[in-house]
Amino acid sequence: MAETRQPILSVRDVRVEFQIKDSKGWPWTPARSLKAVNGISFDLFAGETLGVVGESGCGKSTLARALLNLNPANSGSIKWLGQEMQGASETAWLSVRKDIQMIFQDPLASLDPRMTVAQIIAEPLRTHHPAMSHDEVMAKVRAIMGRVGLTAQQINRYPHEFSGGQCQRIGIARALILQPRLIVCDEPVSALDVSIQAQIINLLKELQAEFGLALIFIAHDLAVVRHISHRVMVMYLGRAMEFADKRALYDDPRHPYTQALLSAIPIPDPELERNKVVQLLQGDLPSPLNPPSGCVFRTRCPKAQGQCSEQVPSLLTVRGDSQVACLLV
Ligand code: SF4
Repeated sequence: MAETRQPILSVRDVRVEFQIKDSKGWPWTPARSLKAVNGISFDLFAGETLGVVGESGCGKSTLARALLNLNPANSGSIKWLGQEMQGASETAWLSVRKDIQMIFQDPLASLDPRMTVAQIIAEPLRTHHPAMSHDEVMAKVRAIMGRVGLTAQQINRYPHEFSGGQCQRIGIARALILQPRLIVCDEPVSALDVSIQAQIINLLKELQAEFGLALIFIAHDLAVVRHISHRVMVMYLGRAMEFADKRALYDDPRHPYTQALLSAIPIPDPELERNKVVQLLQGDLPSPLNPPSGCVFRTRCPKAQGQCSEQVPSLLTVRGDSQVACLLV
């Protein structure tokens, strides 16, 4: 009988909601509900990269934090290696966090300025393996520093002595030291120059191949996730608009939002770039406190019709494994 591949992470209908009190309102004015993540589902397999893309405020970082219980989900299911983690105790989460690590957006701000590089990278080892000897810890720190492109001479320096790209390498070394199975990368290259972005993305790809890591790679730009993702989820106001294999999504995007995001990516060929049709998105992202009725994208959608204000489109399979949330597809 053929062996069925099991996901390492299985997420179903995850919702994260915040209650927001209006600071200018009366004390008795009821809090309003902000649905930051509104029914996200996906499976993630070992060695795979899932790209999550969307504008600032679309809920992608909140989703990332929910996956590590840093912002606990209000409802839904988060299964890690088949074990239900939604509502699990902090002790259960502590053991799972050995396997799931995170890399943050601002490399310098995410590192404690009072700690040396050695202390920063060693901290997860000291938390999860308190019995490990100092020499063993330092040997692991030196080995992982070499693997991410840092030198042994840098081991006693402080974060402010490094460039943004080097700080992100320190963050990656810290995330890798426990040999996790999944790293959630929350906009890891957004704060870096383009040439450094490429170096960090290539490093993550090499480490993924070497260690069989799964990655969730969050970005606000489809061009950035293209080089690292196997599948891509496009989010808008807390919902998934399109979820597809990389090739299908970039070659034949079906959702009007994905089409608009892709049309804004510059093409290196000057002739093609001159002739391409750019689908400009009108206006700003609506407030998640007051999302549009029906399809949340309708206020900026060039194809919107009457029914779009009344019906919420479900994420439906349209070709192969691709899923699209649009009433007209
Ligand atoms: S459902 Fe309507 S508004 Fe939403 S993406 Fe499709 S066409 Fe546009």
